[in-house]
Amino acid sequence: MNTQPKRLLLLTSKLGYQARAFADAARRLGADVLFATDRCRQLDDPWRDAALPLHFERPAEAAVEIARAAAHATIQAILALGDRPLAAAAHAARALGLPYNSPESVDTARNKLRQRQALRAAGLPVPDFFSFALDEDVEHVLPRVHFPCVVKPLMLSMSQGVVRANDAAEFRTAAARIRALVESPEVQVTREEGLDQLLVEGFIPGGEVALEGLLEDGRLHPLALFDKPDPLEGPYFEETIYVTPSSLPAAVQDAIMSCAQRSIAALGLTRGPLHAEFRINAQGPWVLELQPRPIGGLCARALRFGPQHMPLEELLARHALGLPPEPGDLEREPAASGVMMIPVPRSGIFEGVEGLEEAARVPGIESLEITARPHDYVAAWPEGSSYLGFIFARDSGLGGPAAVESALRAAHALLRFDLRPRLPVEHPAARRMTHG
Ligand code: ADP
Repeated sequence: MNTQPKRLLLLTSKLGYQARAFADAARRLGADVLFATDRCRQLDDPWRDAALPLHFERPAEAAVEIARAAAHATIQAILALGDRPLAAAAHAARALGLPYNSPESVDTARNKLRQRQALRAAGLPVPDFFSFALDEDVEHVLPRVHFPCVVKPLMLSMSQGVVRANDAAEFRTAAARIRALVESPEVQVTREEGLDQLLVEGFIPGGEVALEGLLEDGRLHPLALFDKPDPLEGPYFEETIYVTPSSLPAAVQDAIMSCAQRSIAALGLTRGPLHAEFRINAQGPWVLELQPRPIGGLCARALRFGPQHMPLEELLARHALGLPPEPGDLEREPAASGVMMIPVPRSGIFEGVEGLEEAARVPGIESLEITARPHDYVAAWPEGSSYLGFIFARDSGLGGPAAVESALRAAHALLRFDLRPRLPVEHPAARRMTHG
């Protein structure tokens, strides 16, 4: 009998809290963890975990490197955190013969234009859209635009560079601003394909939800449906509060699940974590996007499963390692739970925060984590992509999701962030953006 521990390959751009939570979960399950990252030059091996250095934007090459590493120490499972490593994970899984989403499905999901095309071709409800070249004269683009619209880059995430425009003047400003962001060294260094185009979409009014799920043989198992109680009307779209369970009527939730299942089939996704966003209005659910990865940042902490209150990271690590779930393991705990991603009110140097202790004492608040590093520049949206921190609340009484939402708002209202202007003012294209 083979007594060697299983080995999980964890691909991630950020060797931060999220990666550590997944690694800890895998180790608790008796597995070894091998990290692969494209950020090796920027860290000095924080947990002495000698990460495999890769270029995520060259997935076929990354797969060869991974296969070489696997020749020395067998890899039985692969998990990718965040959007950037998804293609490398899919190519590596194919090379190693491990079950995972196909490289084709991942490429389609990752590129916002290709995802829209695939979903529209399958008859799914998506906004009208078209793309244009970054260097195209905006005056030539404007006759094709219907307002209100949303303009976005094809390959960024976390709502970075996503801007609503209500008229031609706003469109010109939005396009120039997104162009400066995309041409900034911080974005160009990712060498992502598709950064030379922008996507224009019709603005879909309505409330928004986020779905966390797990795929097995292309079948969706919903893990949590989050309501987003703050209206996301633009012009920028940083996230704030997520609360689960959703308060939407059961019939609407069913419609979201069936829309999600059809979208998964249209993209050809088959296995592992899924994070998806939908808008809901009188016409039903509209697909904003699906990604074959877990919820980002520290948000996974809001989710616990089964009788043992298993963290989401452990549930996903178990699934990747092929460990069958125990009864009830895929059921979220009954208590309402929520997280607030603390938005950046204005760009500046983060010099500290007051009110943490008072905020932590608000009934229902479970924990509060400031992730911005002192003296770092933090950019507000649309240039930004890192939150100041995360607040977690769980319902211990009978208040349900509404009580969780109130607790998050009350705690946030007690925080006072010291964000100082950075002088002298630089050209926007030269701005330095933090990637927390
Ligand atoms: P990202 O992958 O960077 O999060 P999305 O395309 O999902 O980018 O957009 C981020 C957010 O912007 C969405 O969650 C939504 O609030 C808003 N948004 C994007 N596209 C639209 C649209 N067509 N209509 C309305 N809101 C949109």
